[in-house]
Amino acid sequence: KQFLKGLPKVELHAHLNGSLGVDSLRDLAERLYGSAPEKLLELCFIRCEKDLDACFETFKFVHELTATAEGLRYATELAVRDFAQDNVQYVELRTTPKANAHYSRRDYLEIVIEAIIEARKKYPDILVKLLPSINRAEPVDVAEETVSLAVELAQSYPHLILGIDLSGNPAKGRFSDFAPIISKAREMGLKLVIHCAEIKNPSEVQEMLEFGMSRCGHGSFLTQKEIELLKQRNIPIECCLTSNVKSGTVSSLEEHHLKRIMEANAPKVICTDDSGVFDTTLTQEFLLATETFGLTRRQCVDLTLEAVHHSFATDQERKKMAERVENYAASLQ
Ligand code: 5GP
Repeated sequence: KQFLKGLPKVELHAHLNGSLGVDSLRDLAERLYGSAPEKLLELCFIRCEKDLDACFETFKFVHELTATAEGLRYATELAVRDFAQDNVQYVELRTTPKANAHYSRRDYLEIVIEAIIEARKKYPDILVKLLPSINRAEPVDVAEETVSLAVELAQSYPHLILGIDLSGNPAKGRFSDFAPIISKAREMGLKLVIHCAEIKNPSEVQEMLEFGMSRCGHGSFLTQKEIELLKQRNIPIECCLTSNVKSGTVSSLEEHHLKRIMEANAPKVICTDDSGVFDTTLTQEFLLATETFGLTRRQCVDLTLEAVHHSFATDQERKKMAERVENYAASLQ
């Protein structure tokens, strides 16, 4: 575990509002309310409910804590702090811009951007990027606004905003309705990460694979043929073990598709998804993968290098990250 904790890890699938650990949620609630309402904090965690719909309900409680500019700003800083404390050297945070009485979707993104820039001063060892998310359960015109904001802000912050994520409850909304908007984002130079095959929906998976993406989120219901196709196209599958088991899309760790992906020698990355609400860390996810599938230290290092390779960082940033990983591995030999 010490080895995995010290490894300079790379996190490519992390939702901002799902990434606040228990201490951070408490710090946030104390800052906002003066004390932490225990009942609310309890509601922010998913036990092992094995119910994906119930998981989406849980996010509403975290969203209560980030519904003001102050809450959102501090939550962003805390999420960066939590990843930095776990020795994550690079994180691509994704988040769905929201609008309420306190902020517009534009304000939301600007608050998060400013908070990331500030947090990096406090935690200089972690590089942070941002992927605005489209929530497929929301109307298509919201997605349109998100994409146009992302395209515009990416011009002002080209090293920070790198792509668009499609997430939200996979049982809601239709991919085909969002495809033209996401396509526009791609034409404007943004990368695409898409939650795909999170539940069983073969026709949608086919549409998504035909459409294309830079990385595939979850992929739990991909067939072996589809995994082969992703391999041919060098598209990695973002594997989130605890999230998939706790939300019930995968029946147990032993049954996790990471095993099939490794056997096929297809590209993959290990990620947390929502380290807060699922109560995990990237170190813990590597530990689970190691215990369940017998990974060696070298395989953990190689998985981290694979994540470096599939990140949207610049060549120079990736070179530096890979050096940090190799230096760490060499220092322990
Ligand atoms: P936020 O976008 O508010 O920062 O992060 C929480 C949101 O991310 C959730 O409300 C949901 O839309 C999305 N999300 C978090 N985890 C998952 C997941 O495992 N699957 C999908 N499809 N969406 C998720």
